[in-house]
Amino acid sequence: MGEAGESAEEDSDRSTLEFASLSPDLFDAAPDVVAGRPVPFIKDVPIPSAMSIPLSERVAIPELGPDDDGREVVVAGWIQEVRDLGGIAFVELRQGTETGQIVLPKGKVDEDTVDTLVEANRESVAAIAGTVQESDEAPGGFEVLPDEAELLNEAQTPLPMGVVDRVDTDVDTRLENRFLDVRKPEVQAIFAVRAAAVEGGRQWLQEEGFTEFTSPNIIGAASEGGTDIFEVQYFEETAYLSQSPQLYKQMMMATGLDKVFEIAKYFRAESHNTRRHLNESSAFDCEVAFIDDEDDVLWVLENLVHAITSFVDENCTEELELLDHEVTVPDTPFPRVTYDEALDWTADDVEEEVAWGEDLSTEAEYALGDIMEEKGHEYYFITKYPDECKPFYAQPEGEELSRSFDLGKSGMEVTSGAQRVHDPDLLRQRIEEMGADTEDFEDYLKPFTYGMPPHGGFGLGIERIVMEMLDLHNIREAVLFPRDRDRLRP
Ligand code: ATP
Ligand code: MG
Repeated sequence: MGEAGESAEEDSDRSTLEFASLSPDLFDAAPDVVAGRPVPFIKDVPIPSAMSIPLSERVAIPELGPDDDGREVVVAGWIQEVRDLGGIAFVELRQGTETGQIVLPKGKVDEDTVDTLVEANRESVAAIAGTVQESDEAPGGFEVLPDEAELLNEAQTPLPMGVVDRVDTDVDTRLENRFLDVRKPEVQAIFAVRAAAVEGGRQWLQEEGFTEFTSPNIIGAASEGGTDIFEVQYFEETAYLSQSPQLYKQMMMATGLDKVFEIAKYFRAESHNTRRHLNESSAFDCEVAFIDDEDDVLWVLENLVHAITSFVDENCTEELELLDHEVTVPDTPFPRVTYDEALDWTADDVEEEVAWGEDLSTEAEYALGDIMEEKGHEYYFITKYPDECKPFYAQPEGEELSRSFDLGKSGMEVTSGAQRVHDPDLLRQRIEEMGADTEDFEDYLKPFTYGMPPHGGFGLGIERIVMEMLDLHNIREAVLFPRDRDRLRP
């Protein structure tokens, strides 16, 4: 028998096991077996009857207006607010970030329909079939007079957090109940902007001829070294979660795919809780071959940031209005500030001076952000870092410098990048100089020994740029389900 047959057999074994592993309490009796597969019968859960209101005909509330007067529609969404004034009641029904008014003149609308809607708890999901009527008083200039209403799912009370209440909910409660939090239009707007930022960036990279690729997140060797790495059990071996796709995007440079990018996941076991670090984050990771020097990479990065910000600016008008925020579309090229200039300019503004060779302190980064803002620049490059504060794979320049750079935005690092070393002998030497064993880096080194062109690239943090673009104080606002020192759920 061929491989296909064997694997089909394995599959059916596995599905049997899945059902078998369900708790026996769920079953009234031993499950029947049909065509080799068990059919579980689950107790006490009523099988839903067919909907009488066809949800597939649902129209979007934002698309309706006074001109639809007389039109028969199906609307469905969350019951945001009920106002029962005695002879008449109003229901505010929310769809996405918009609401529409359902009007319930008692006596005119069937009693069951009125009760279904008026007695429902806030945030329940309901469907309504009815007629649009023009109304000067209703938001949007229209309301829906129901013929029929159906409660699709009743929300329990009390809600773990309010959706439209004016009270501020603490971040922990919001994150524990993200599904409710994202019902808030201003929270939804953040994620619409994030999606647009990714779309705008991806679109530009594709137009520029970049190929999107995906690298593994489970890796066998800690390619970048360091202690900030999560270990995972991989069968009988220890594996790691990738800190970045560094090795893989460099490997792609040896393939003839000269420009690649990945929307990558970074896993970093940094144990500090700060407002700008996550333990799982995302980035635009780009790599370009046949470059003269790091300036060719800077060009890609500044234009990518320009593309992201202008895409958001053009496509997220309503979201930005909701957030009461304007996005700066920076002029290109971005100013280049050398590391030496950065130290010099910020020396008087920092309590603890940065010693030459150290990475810029957070304090120095903010001071530089202020100086650049005064000069009219939100985005700026810091170039020509000392070799000693950058990774072994960054191309050195002269005795002490490195062809490495960061992109700062108002004092926040949003990107690091560099021209890379492409000479395998130099790479080996640099690995040894940092006190590591080249044998641990054989997977990394191999592509460099069989034809590797000069190349460079960068990682642009997605949460960081969204956070900065929207002026969010905490990076956790820019990711739906943050992973931090204390948060592994939901
Ligand atoms: P930082 O110095 O701010 O901790 P880093 O220099 O360690 O960052 P890099 O390895 O240079 O980070 O990663 C490239 C980019 O990825 C960063 O410029 C940042 O935008 C983003 N990034 C890195 N680590 C994190 C993190 N823990 N949380 C969120 N974003 C991150
Ligand atoms: Mg960095």
